[in-house]
Amino acid sequence: MKASLDKKPARPLTAADLCDRCSARAAVETVMMQGGSLLWCAHHFAFFEDALNNFGATILVDERRR
Ligand SMILES: [Zn+2]
Repeated sequence: MKASLDKKPARPLTAADLCDRCSARAAVETVMMQGGSLLWCAHHFAFFEDALNNFGATILVDERRR
């Protein structure tokens, strides 16, 4: 087995990662200050982005595309 040394996100999102709000494919993963991560589709991340900032959430993975 080859180990890849490419720089990649800690845990790339896959088709198995679904938005916690609507079960669409997740495009963003955020981590809360208290721990625990949430998955978002691009639509719901945009909708909750301000609230997430207020909670001090950190973006762990951002795979949104235009
Ligand atoms: Zn969603």
